[in-house]
Amino acid sequence: MSYEQATIQSNSQGFRLGVAEKLTLGYIYPHAPVEIIMAHGFVPSLVRARPGVVGAFEASLQTFACSYTRNLFSQRANDQLPPLAALLFPGNTCDSLLNVGDIWRVRFPDDTVFRLTYPAANQGEAGVHFLAEEIRSLSNMLEKAFGLPFSLSEFEEAASLTRQFRESIQFLYASRAILPQVLPYSKLAALIHTFLMSPDQKSVTEVVRAASQAQRSLAKSKSLEPINRIRQQLLKGHLTRLTFAHDTDSPRIAVAGGMIDPGALVALLSAAGISENALVIDLLTFGFKTAFTRPCDMEGDPFESVARSILSSPLEPTQEGLEMRLSFVRDILTNLAIDGLVICEQSFCDPDEFEAPSLEAAASKSGVVVLRLPIDPELSDRERLGVRLQSFLETIKSRNQR
Ligand code: SF4
Repeated sequence: MSYEQATIQSNSQGFRLGVAEKLTLGYIYPHAPVEIIMAHGFVPSLVRARPGVVGAFEASLQTFACSYTRNLFSQRANDQLPPLAALLFPGNTCDSLLNVGDIWRVRFPDDTVFRLTYPAANQGEAGVHFLAEEIRSLSNMLEKAFGLPFSLSEFEEAASLTRQFRESIQFLYASRAILPQVLPYSKLAALIHTFLMSPDQKSVTEVVRAASQAQRSLAKSKSLEPINRIRQQLLKGHLTRLTFAHDTDSPRIAVAGGMIDPGALVALLSAAGISENALVIDLLTFGFKTAFTRPCDMEGDPFESVARSILSSPLEPTQEGLEMRLSFVRDILTNLAIDGLVICEQSFCDPDEFEAPSLEAAASKSGVVVLRLPIDPELSDRERLGVRLQSFLETIKSRNQR
């Protein structure tokens, strides 16, 4: 596509609306106030980068956009986005999302685009108050733009759904941290994906069912007690010494990184011919960090309650608090018997690239084999990444045999 064609496309009509019963509000940053969005009668849906997307915008955004945001922009330019009534950008997370949000408004003036600004760090009550007011302002804008007022009963229903989802998915994460064979990682990734795309009773029922099945199969193995303890500790962001039985012949890998889709990891493991059971835990934005957000409280002011819940999620590379994140990663590596850490870096992502060297140093000091893996949504380097993963696994295996 030429630059001229792309510019012409950008002057097309606003978002496609589709014919669904409810309007869809897309969001990009996973810590969106989904309960509030649902309380206005929208379906909140994560807009993700996708493989197989090309466009002239990739080149025109090169200087300030990461591969993730370029992919999103190209989807819009190519009319490949799902039907949306509006799109929510985050503010104060990274320069790339801020800039692309601004450019989006200019290129696609008919699109309804909102911005929700987050506090730079979890600054206690001041941060909660700031975010609560931002969310309240978003709520007012939604009502004004679409004539859909906030409904307390829909808020309570949405809060109950997200609570059920998070409790079950947290249990599954904690279970896999001990016995990864209890659920294939691809299944875990698919359950999270389905919920993030469309948080409804159906997607939640699937997660609850998977957690119940896992619970039944683990009941005989005496693993439930350590699993529940790990879940609580993961929620608190601090792990203590744990003893649990695990298969010492199989490598145990953790994955860290920012806005990486767990589905991309599944594709890479499959390309490398590596068993999903080797991946015992991910600490990714679209996986772990979404799952380990505390449910929001039904009491009190809903906006403050949602702000408190969002700010309880594990810290991102886009936020202050590197030392806390490093300490948490060290806890995971030492207490979950991890042999190797894969640090995924989204191409041209400043936050990932700033954080990766510190993660690498922390993991090396803990005696863990480290692999830094640059990745883009198109998995354009899939074969080479697969080979690097294979040799990483070989290194771990030969170390374990010594
Ligand atoms: S991948 Fe990195 S640079 Fe891109 S939007 Fe996410 S945090 Fe920002």
